[in-house]
Amino acid sequence: MKLEIELEVLSAVCVGSTADAQGIGVDKATARDADGKLIIPGSTLKGRIRWECERIARALGWEVCDAPQTDNMCPYFWHHRGVSDDKYCIICETFGGSARHAALWFGDAALADDVRLRNTPVLQRGKSVSERRPFDAQIRPGVSISRARRAAFSERLFFTETSAPNARFRFRALIEGDPPSHKHRALLLAGVRALSLVGGGRSRGLGWVRVARGVLDGDELTDTRWKELLKPLEEVTT
Ligand SMILES: [Zn+2]
Repeated sequence: MKLEIELEVLSAVCVGSTADAQGIGVDKATARDADGKLIIPGSTLKGRIRWECERIARALGWEVCDAPQTDNMCPYFWHHRGVSDDKYCIICETFGGSARHAALWFGDAALADDVRLRNTPVLQRGKSVSERRPFDAQIRPGVSISRARRAAFSERLFFTETSAPNARFRFRALIEGDPPSHKHRALLLAGVRALSLVGGGRSRGLGWVRVARGVLDGDELTDTRWKELLKPLEEVTT
């Protein structure tokens, strides 16, 4: 199975990378690839899609383990419930866990379009400054609030780099692998379709995305095709 997805950013995203943060003097920078292009790391996508799939599986009444603590995940989750054999829930069978390999591989989501803004050189005294401060991003100040005292402290001022707001960036990602059954695949697709948030800063309106496009094994996923592919989820489980 080869699933290509295109995520449209509806607000702005900050998939934190503290490693890159120091270089540009912020507390949290957005993740970039070696060429400096904005990315959403595959591990972030995987975590988020896994979370959506767990939510859907529970809504369908399927018993799944409690990620992310290893002790609450398969197979330990079942050992605590008196199952002596190593058992894995549909989520672990798909996404893997500490004791099991994942059936799927999630690639980093890279910016789909070459950012027009970024490619426009901005010169200051004959030197390009757009290389130093890419126009695909914005620095946002934030103040952390003490929940106990409901007060903001100036020393808690922090800066976050996010993708440029309202730029409607599109990120393209590839998910590959062999889901064990149609049901596993359907659950994955349902989770992908439900994807609406990535990265941090939800309370500040960051991270809202929508899946704008999907291509499964070369076939464009129309609304009708999505519905067909999700059908195995409606089958009665035994
Ligand atoms: Zn599990």
